[in-house]
Amino acid sequence: MQEMLIQAEPLKKLVSAILTKGGSSNEEAQVVADHLVRANLAGHDSHGVGMLPFYIRMLQADLLKPNQKPELFKSDGSILMFDGQRGYGQSVGKMAMEQAIEKCRESGLVLMTLRNTHHLGRIGTYGEQSIAAGMVSLHFVNVTDHPPLVAPFRGSDARFSTNPICLAMPGTEKQPPVLLDMATSRIALGKARVAFNKGETLKDGLVIDHKGQPSNDPGVMAGYCFPERNDNPPLGALTPLGEYKGYGLALFSELLGGMLSGGGTIQPEHPRQNSIINNMFTLVIDPARLVDVSWMQHEVEAIVAHAKASPPVNSDEPVLVAGDPERISKKERLSQGIPIDDATWEQILEGGETLGLTREVMMKFN
Ligand code: NAD
Repeated sequence: MQEMLIQAEPLKKLVSAILTKGGSSNEEAQVVADHLVRANLAGHDSHGVGMLPFYIRMLQADLLKPNQKPELFKSDGSILMFDGQRGYGQSVGKMAMEQAIEKCRESGLVLMTLRNTHHLGRIGTYGEQSIAAGMVSLHFVNVTDHPPLVAPFRGSDARFSTNPICLAMPGTEKQPPVLLDMATSRIALGKARVAFNKGETLKDGLVIDHKGQPSNDPGVMAGYCFPERNDNPPLGALTPLGEYKGYGLALFSELLGGMLSGGGTIQPEHPRQNSIINNMFTLVIDPARLVDVSWMQHEVEAIVAHAKASPPVNSDEPVLVAGDPERISKKERLSQGIPIDDATWEQILEGGETLGLTREVMMKFN
C-alpha cells in the first residue's frame, strides 16, 4: 500500500474546504479540521482526517448536524450539564470545555457532562485544553448509536465500544504535560481501520473473529467501518485492555460518561444507527486550590524523572511517560509531513466529490 506525505497546513485547508461544503461555518470547519490534523500530528491517524468520509456519510444521513452549540440544560453549583445537539463533537466539545474551564477558575472544581454529541474525536484534545489553562482534567467517554465493538472479559462477542479515558496534568518549564489518552480496548477501532486500509495484519491478542477465536485480521472489524460494503468478513470484536481491568474501566465509562451525563449507555434499548454519539463525563480541577504550585511542579518533575531513570530493557526503547509518543510524532510529522495511505486519501477525495467538490479543486490544496 502506497502512502504520501502531506504537510499539516495544506491538509487542514483541504479538510476545512470539505467541511465547509458540508454546511459548516468557516469557524466550525477550522476547529474540526484543526482537531483532526492535530490527531494525525500526534500519531493518532485513527482519529485524524481519515474520519472525514464517515462524517460526510453521517451528514448525508442527517445523523450529524453542522453548526451546533452545546446547550446548557443544567447548571447547579459546580455542575454544568450540556447537550451537544448531535453537532460535531470537536466543535461542541471545545465550547463546552471552554465554559467548564472558565467556571473552574471561580470554583476550583467543575463537573461537566456533555451528552448527545457526534464523535468527539481524540479525547486528548480536551485534556490539552485544560492543560493550556493550567488545569488538571479527567474524562470518561462512552459511545452509543453504534454497534458494540469490544468484547467483555470472558465474552466472545462485542458488547461495549472503545470507551476512551483521558487524564491530563499540566507540565512545568522543564517537564512537558503528562497526558494519558487511551481507548479501554487494546486498540481503537480506527487503528484496525488504518491497518485494513494499509493491508497490514494485527499483532496477537487485539481482535477476535465472529466465533470469539483469536485473529490477526483487521478485516474482522471492517464491517463496522464500512457497513455499506458487501464484501466484509463476518464481524468480530476488539479485546478489552488488560483483561477484566480494562473491561471494568469500559463499564465505568458507560456509567459515568453514558449514564450520569443523561445520554445513556450502549445497552440495547437505545438506538444503533451506525452513527456515533459520544457522551463525556469531565472533572476539571484547579490544582492551585489543592497544593502549592511550585511544590506541585517539583513533584511532577521528580516523579517523571524517577520513572524515566529506570534502565530500559532494550537500550533503543527508553522509558517514556504518557504524552511523550504524541510529542515525538508531532515533531517528526511537522517537519516531514503527515503520512496518508492511498486508500484513505481516495476515500477523502470521494467524500469531497459527493459534496460537490471536484478533484481538481481538492488537489490544489496538496
Ligand atoms: P495509544 O494506545 O496509542 O496510547 C494510549 C496512551 O498511552 C497515550 O496517552 C500515550 O501517550 C501512552 N503511551 C503510549 N506508549 C507509551 C509508552 N511507551 N510509555 C508511556 N506511555 C505510552 O492510544 P489508543 O488507546 O489507541 O487511543 C487512540 C486515540 O483514540 C485516543 O486519542 C483516544 O482518545 C481516541 N479514542 C476516541 C474514541 C471516541 O469515541 N471519541 C474512542 C476510542 C479512542
